Amino acid sequence: MAIIKAVRGTRDLLPPETELWNRVEATARSVFARYGFGEIRTPLFEATELFARGVGEETDIVSKEMYTWEDRGRAESDKGQSLTLRPENTAGVVRAYIEHHLADSGMLQKLFYIGPQFRRERPQRGRYRQFWQIGAEVLGPQFSGSDSALRDAEVLEMLATLLNELGIKGWRLALNSVGSTDDRQRYSAALREALQPVKHKMCEDNQRRAETNPLRVLDSKEPNDQEIIDALPKIGDFLGEDSRAHFEQVKAALDACGVPYTVDPRLVRGLDYYTRTTFEFTVPDGSGLGTQNALLGGGRYDGLSEMLGGPKAPGIGFAIGEDRLILTLLAQLEAKEPARLDAFVAPMGVAQNPAALKLAQELRAAGLRIEVGDGAFRLRKSFETADKLADKMIIVGEDEVNSGLFTVKTFSKGEQEKIPRAELAEALSFKKVSS
Ligand code: AMP
Repeated sequence: MAIIKAVRGTRDLLPPETELWNRVEATARSVFARYGFGEIRTPLFEATELFARGVGEETDIVSKEMYTWEDRGRAESDKGQSLTLRPENTAGVVRAYIEHHLADSGMLQKLFYIGPQFRRERPQRGRYRQFWQIGAEVLGPQFSGSDSALRDAEVLEMLATLLNELGIKGWRLALNSVGSTDDRQRYSAALREALQPVKHKMCEDNQRRAETNPLRVLDSKEPNDQEIIDALPKIGDFLGEDSRAHFEQVKAALDACGVPYTVDPRLVRGLDYYTRTTFEFTVPDGSGLGTQNALLGGGRYDGLSEMLGGPKAPGIGFAIGEDRLILTLLAQLEAKEPARLDAFVAPMGVAQNPAALKLAQELRAAGLRIEVGDGAFRLRKSFETADKLADKMIIVGEDEVNSGLFTVKTFSKGEQEKIPRAELAEALSFKKVSS
């Protein structure tokens, strides 16, 4: 019979790699807690309208990549509805902010999330159809200080801290300001005009973008178009006084904290909701990501809440591609042996199985990592299995069970010691048995 495989662009995460995923998530949680963030969990699917309005109809995500279906009503009273697997989490967080009146507290909301997102992209290394993001959002009423440049710098400084604590080497922060909605509109118009006389020399995608969404031309990696793109007007020359001052303040705070960055005037990012600060962290070639070297991206979205029918709630956020973080760590870390168990409990006969399980229960309750063999194993097989999994083997024979004195073998030394039952857990935890 034909075997059933995971769907293209999705994958299983298996041990020992999942250990790394858990370590990354634990580090993220610990860093977020230090900066005053709390966790939010929003549904994996939402009304399609949320992304159409929040992310923007013109974006690749909404126009090409969403998993959308018509959900049938189950009763007359229950109307059908277009639903979509979330392609990103910011729109969901802002929806929840509005729905639960989080603005009412008057306080700044600092929320983080960890979870899968779905986009129908062309799968390749570092690009999947179900992928994980670790992200955070800072938003609130204007009087809570949510549009302060200090928030942008704090988020960026936190990301630098997180990447350093995770041990990511050689990361680079690219920074830009796309200005207010007005600045962006003026810039967009200028780009469209500048593209008119040259667009026929560009690739088909860029010709289309020049009409529909000229900002997206700046994202293009098409080698033949780079010269034209580099000569286009720069957003920096279109920033209003407020946007310019805001950007200067972000940079000054980053300088004060010693967070290195490069201003990249082409960094406008694909989503419609960004205003003012935009940023991206990349890793150098050879970090395991192939051509997908963007580790995370984000920016400010001062108008998003209003676009979704909510109150004015300036905000800033980011999303880290967790899959890419892991690929980078795997490539950058020296190949690490999976953690070994503390001991393998080996019953010498089937009759000792219950006693062996009981001993394992006691040792596990003491916080040790234990595997138990089976009395049907011959001694040789117990040895081989134990040696693969653990540093030590505890032999459980009839004598040991009766006397309460257990033989502990340390493989690396080829040594054996007899240890009383009551002292076993302590001996294994403090590695009193020499290893
Ligand atoms: P975006 O939501 O497009 O700003 O993406 C933020 C980050 O999510 C990117 O920098 C990537 O690290 C990651 N990411 C986006 N799309 C994918 C994907 N299809 N597969 C894996 N990671 C992705």
